[in-house]
Parts: sequence; structure tokens; C-alpha cells
Amino acid sequence: MGVNDYGKTRRSFYSEGKICGPVAPWHPEVVTAFDGLRSFNTGSTEAFKTALMKLLKAPGAQRKGRKNPKASGHRPPLRQLMKQRIAAPEENLFGLGKIELEELAVECGQPKFRGRQLFRNLYARRVRDLDACTEIPANFRQELAARFRVEWPDIRARVESQDGAVRYLFALDDGENIETVYMPIENRVTLCLSSQVGCAVGCRFCFTALLGVKRNLTAGEVVGQVTAVLDAQQVPKETPVNLVFMGMGEPMLNLDAVMKAVGILSDSNGLALALRRMTVSTAGVIPQIRKFAEIPARPKLAISLNASSHEQRTALMPLNRKYPLSELMQVCREFPLGPREYLTFEYVLLDGINDSDDDARRVAALVKDIKCKLNLIPFNSGSELPYKPSPLGRVLAFQDILRSHQVPAYIRISRGQDVMAACGQLRLGTMSRTATPVDASL
Ligand code: SF4
Repeated sequence: MGVNDYGKTRRSFYSEGKICGPVAPWHPEVVTAFDGLRSFNTGSTEAFKTALMKLLKAPGAQRKGRKNPKASGHRPPLRQLMKQRIAAPEENLFGLGKIELEELAVECGQPKFRGRQLFRNLYARRVRDLDACTEIPANFRQELAARFRVEWPDIRARVESQDGAVRYLFALDDGENIETVYMPIENRVTLCLSSQVGCAVGCRFCFTALLGVKRNLTAGEVVGQVTAVLDAQQVPKETPVNLVFMGMGEPMLNLDAVMKAVGILSDSNGLALALRRMTVSTAGVIPQIRKFAEIPARPKLAISLNASSHEQRTALMPLNRKYPLSELMQVCREFPLGPREYLTFEYVLLDGINDSDDDARRVAALVKDIKCKLNLIPFNSGSELPYKPSPLGRVLAFQDILRSHQVPAYIRISRGQDVMAACGQLRLGTMSRTATPVDASL
């Protein structure tokens, strides 16, 4: 544990009431002890507590027969004292990009390359204790430690499905929660990432929509989902990792932070994950798709289609009123694809709603001149939503019609259904998430 865990530990330690022990917490010896512990560098919270108790019990720490400071009227407010002396820095270094870290290094009177070293330590080495960044001079480390902390989102809960998918609930700094799903598939893994706390888009078949939107995630909170899950699952560094932005939120409505995170995740001195293994999924925010199309190095694009006509799509996805299906399909036709790139359309099949033969024929007509594939996802039912999954026979018939029109169509059975981690099932409280389908094979 280093300086960055210090604030948290101090808070829990204090709340347990142990800090008072035999010594008044405002006593100068105690304050000195805390000051000394600012640079404490050991492996665990327990070790921290033990060391602190030792200091508090040390000769000189206790003052027999001391006056009751309360009575003497000299007691400084404890909260204020603790805040001044030992508060953890507010700003998180994790999430800053390479250029920002270079600028920070220069601001601290260091050469620019120190910023690049810091970037490598934070993301390639996944260092969370600045003291472990040994290639960085001690004075720079100390200055950073005084101003910044290095923290990933906290894993609050983890539920494992029988099929190997694992659903993670994270707590963010401000107390908000998000979810991430880990899916191991043969020799690779797929992570389904959240981009917002909740979602404002309001797709009718999505549990996340029930939450509304609270806020956008920062780039650090996006990258932190990846580092935290890869570490928790002990994924070897050489394992291919697919990232799909199909968790909570509409990534196109937080595009700047998502692309900043993508930069860190794909940088060869960052997490060095392959850009071609990343997919951003959208419900169809047209201006943002256009903006995304202009980014030279970007992930692949997936469109959550889910309907075969304007009216049907408006009923399922209210966003369609603002960004109509015809315009969305035009943007898809114009989307610049690389030689080996294709668009992915996702289609959640809802029994009796959008799964008829006519629907399949209309979908085939919609995508006929687009280099794409279509993922068919049987709806993952939940008691609070008025939909049922299409029967398997209907799903197969739908697929046959698409294939007969030369549309590559695949059936995707969502993983993690037994722990509500499947597409459309995430929702905080039970542990939550988006209805946007996850193509684990990407
Ligand atoms: S499906 Fe995706 S875009 Fe639609 S409400 Fe759910 S999280 Fe938002």
C-alpha cells in the first residue's frame, strides 16, 4: 500500500474508532505518526494498521495525566486537522493521456520523457503505487504523490456464471456504480465495457434504460474497468483481448472520453490492446457516427438495429424519432470501411414484435448494399420488461431468410444469463447492464 491507498485506509481506520486508542487523535504525537505514514509503503491494509497501532503505543505517544484538551479549549477540530495533514490527493493520475503526462512532467521541472515513463508505468506495467515507479526520480514521485492518487474503479461485487462469464460491479469515486462483463472464449477474452452511468437513450427492451443517465464516465474509469478485470481474472498479457463498448450507456454520447480511453488502451506503451479487436456500439446517434467516421485510428462500429421499419424502430428505440432509420442507413452506407472491415448490425429478436418473415425480408433490404454482418440475439427476458424471447424456430427461420438474401447472419446466444450479465440484463441493484447485444466472437 502506498500513498494512494492511504486516504481510504485512514478513513476506514478512523471510522472503526481505533485511531483514538489510548491517545487523543489530535495529540501532536499522533499527528506526527500520520505524517510519517504518508510515505508508508508496504503490502496491505493490515500491515498499515499494525504499524499505526505500534506508533500509537510507542513510548512518548501516550501522555499520562494530560489535560483534557476539550476542557482546555485547545482542541483543533479533528476533521480539519486530519484533512490538512493526511487527506489523500483528490486528482487521479490514472486516466491521463501521454501528452497530458508529458506536460505534467514539464510543469514539475522534469524532462518530457519522464511523462512517457509515467505513462508506461501506469498502463503497461499497471502500477498503482507511485513508489513502485523506480525509474522515475524520487523527488518527482514525491511531488506527484503529494498532488495525485492512482486509483482504479473499486470492484464491489463479482458474480460468476455457469458458462464462465463474470459480472463485475464497480464503485466509482463519487459513489456511482457501473458494471463490466468478462467473457472467456477459448484462447481469448472479451470485456463488455460501460461508457456512462446509466443511459439516456431509453431503448424499450433494455434494463439499463430503466436507470436513466447519471453521468459520463471519464477515460480513467473506462480504462480502469479493463485493468481491474484483467488483473482480477489474472489474464496473461499475451492473451488476445476483445473490447466491446456495449455495456451501460451510449458510447457515442461520451465519445471524447471513450476515444481517449481507446488511445491509452491501444498505445504500444499503454495496454497495447489491438484496435481491430475493439468495437463501439451505438443505438444510432448520427452526428456522432459521422464524427467517429473521421477518426483515423478508431475501433470498429456496430449499430444496434433491432427493427425493420421506421415505425417499429421508433416504438422500440425512441431515439429513432430524432435520428430516423433511413438516415441512419445512409450514414452506414457512407461509413468508410477498411479493406478487411465490415459493419456489424445487432438485432435483438422479440417474440411477435420484430421477428416475422416480413421483418427478415425488410432487414435484408435495408442492409443489402452495406459490407456488413448481422448478429441475431434472442432477447434475454426479465420480469420488468414486456417482451419475450423469440422461440428458437423463429430465430432460425429469420436467419434463413437473411442468408437467402446473401446477408451474413449469425445467432448469438448471450453469455452470463444466469447471473443477469447477458445482453440487456445489466442493471444496478441486482447488478445491472445494457440491452445492446454483445458479440463475444468479435
Ligand atoms: S440498449 Fe444501449 S443505448 Fe439503448 S438504452 Fe440500453 S444502454 Fe442505452
